[in-house]
Parts: sequence; structure tokens; C-alpha cells
Amino acid sequence: MQQYTSLNQLDELAETSYPLCMRVLHKALRKNHHLTHGGRIQYCLFLKGMGLSLSDAMTFWKDEFMKIMDDTAFKEYKYYIRFIFGKEGSHRDYQPYKCLRILKSIIGPRDYHGCPFKHMLHDILEDELTDCGFNALERSEIMKLSKDGQYFAACNKYYEIKHDCFNDTLFEHPNIYFNESMKHRT
Ligand code: SF4
Repeated sequence: MQQYTSLNQLDELAETSYPLCMRVLHKALRKNHHLTHGGRIQYCLFLKGMGLSLSDAMTFWKDEFMKIMDDTAFKEYKYYIRFIFGKEGSHRDYQPYKCLRILKSIIGPRDYHGCPFKHMLHDILEDELTDCGFNALERSEIMKLSKDGQYFAACNKYYEIKHDCFNDTLFEHPNIYFNESMKHRT
């Protein structure tokens, strides 16, 4: 299986191989050079699960955050990134969130984390799907599942359309989605 190998790949992987929850976070970070606390944790853990080293993670977050803050302000964020990798505080090896944990997220107006199929306003979700290049029929299939509360099925339909395949096992973890997606790369 081809895995993550360099930071230069992340923009492409966000388009081809991320589940929508992580694509949304990646896009927001690139655009705003910032994510609120919940988004930073959710995305940083996912990247760790993809195989990003602490050093690459630090470079990635620093490159974005330093576009809107100075070195002193970044110090607090640096601590949290090291914390997530078990290098500060309790030194626990924190694991990427499963979908069930993400679905229970509390989301505020400035947040991009959570599961878009559950937490995103319907018109914004439809815009995201348009941005993914999905046609009207594809969008309506996913929107119906999302509105019916079938979040895992909506995510699976997103995967099937993205990969032009049939997938009979629903994803319960964003990193499993990513790992399965990478099998489609040659
Ligand atoms: Fe992400 Fe899981 Fe929601 Fe899919 S179902 S978008 S992997 S949180």
C-alpha cells in the first residue's frame, strides 16, 4: 500500500484520499492559516495516524500559523503539537479520533471540525460537494443520506463516488478511510 511520504503530497491527498471531514479541515487551514482548538486536535491526530512525524507535523503547522502570528504566539501551539505526539505533559500516545468520537463533537460558528455529514449546514455541505466536483445526482444522493441521519452511509457514498467503486463496509474511522483510499493508488 502506498502511504504518505512527504508534506508536498498533502494538498493532493486531501482531494483524492481524505474523508470529507479532513478535507474540510485541510482546506480551512490553507485558507485561514488557523483552526480552532477542536479542529487542530482532530486534524493533527489524523495526520499523526497517516504517519506524519513530529518534525513534519511541526513544519506543516508552523508554515500555516506563522502566516498570521509571530514566533512567540506560535509557542503555545508548538506545545500542543508536541503534547499530541506524547512529548509533553502526560506523555500519552494519543490516537486519532474514531468517527463516533467525531460525531459527538460540539461545534461552534467558527469551527470546521466534526463530521460534515452531521454538523454542516445543508447548503454549506452541498457547496462542499460541488467543490469536490460531484454532479447534481451525486450530491442529492449524499444529501439525502445526510438529512436522514445516515452519516456513515453518506460518507461511504462520498467514498464510492470519489473512487468509482462499490464499498460494502462502512468506515468507522477517518484513517481507515484514508488507508483504503490509498489502495486505489498505483
Ligand atoms: Fe469523517 Fe467519519 Fe464523518 Fe466520514 S463518517 S466524514 S470519516 S467523521
